Amino acid sequence: MLNYAIIAENLTYRYGDLTAVDHINFEVERGEVLGFLGPNGAGKSTTVKMLTGQIRPTEGRATVLSADVSKHASQIQAQIGVAFETSNVYEQMTAVENLKLFARLFGVREFDAEALLEQVGLAGRGNERVAGYSKGMKQRLMIARALVNQPRILFLDEPTDGLDPVSSETIRGIIRQQSENGTTVFLTTHDMVEADKLSRRVAFIDQGKIAALDTPHALKQQYGKRGLKVTVECPDGRLETREVILDREDTAASVHELFANQRVVTVHSEEATLEDIFIRVTGRGLN
Ligand code: ADP
Ligand code: MG
Repeated sequence: MLNYAIIAENLTYRYGDLTAVDHINFEVERGEVLGFLGPNGAGKSTTVKMLTGQIRPTEGRATVLSADVSKHASQIQAQIGVAFETSNVYEQMTAVENLKLFARLFGVREFDAEALLEQVGLAGRGNERVAGYSKGMKQRLMIARALVNQPRILFLDEPTDGLDPVSSETIRGIIRQQSENGTTVFLTTHDMVEADKLSRRVAFIDQGKIAALDTPHALKQQYGKRGLKVTVECPDGRLETREVILDREDTAASVHELFANQRVVTVHSEEATLEDIFIRVTGRGLN
């Protein structure tokens, strides 16, 4: 138990008749980055709200840093950092004022606002009003705010959604750096490339349920098919693409058939992406 930063047991949330999160079970190890991957409406944000004590589960239990979130929300909140897609920073205040306000809320006395801003790529911009910030700058400020209390777990809800590539890459760098420092990261995203790059393990969430949970490598081994994409030229000059799946009994015959009877133009090997596997496991795509 002590090695887990987060434990969800039969965690469930209903909005009226709608079961948004449906009896999910998982653990997050201390220091790991868990990618929580699913399409819009899958139940990711609702899960984060339960794990961070913003809403109480309808059923089941969330344990964070060895304490029951329903009973010890404020004690837990002092030790975690949360950056929500929709949560707001105060637009009329400067970035430094925002950070100071947050530090006061958490009773953090000693912190270096400039160092935090530098860490999120906002060095020298701290005395500007947030109203003039771009979306990417606001999102990076929100992450700086989540780091004010040096959290042991960082909850990031779609941190790069809709951001420019530079802001997104800065945020991914912060996640890597936090992870190297031993911070546990719970990262929700519908970006499978991001989940693949950053997470030690990923959970596929679909319609409030966890459809799979493992390392990206293991998921690819279990569900991914290796294949060849072969482009052939038809007698009338059109190009057509054929797919040959590897590791099957008829693979050799299929390859032979193509080379014996077709004019082969190109051959590429294919590796399954997390998105392919998500579709295979859940029967739906991520968008
Ligand atoms: P995600 O973050 O994966 O997009 P959410 O957790 O926001 O998913 O939503 C899960 C489901 O719950 C969706 O069907 C959504 O429409 C519904 N939902 C979310 N928030 C509310 C709310 N405040 N009231 C009613 N239904 C909600
Ligand atoms: Mg969401």
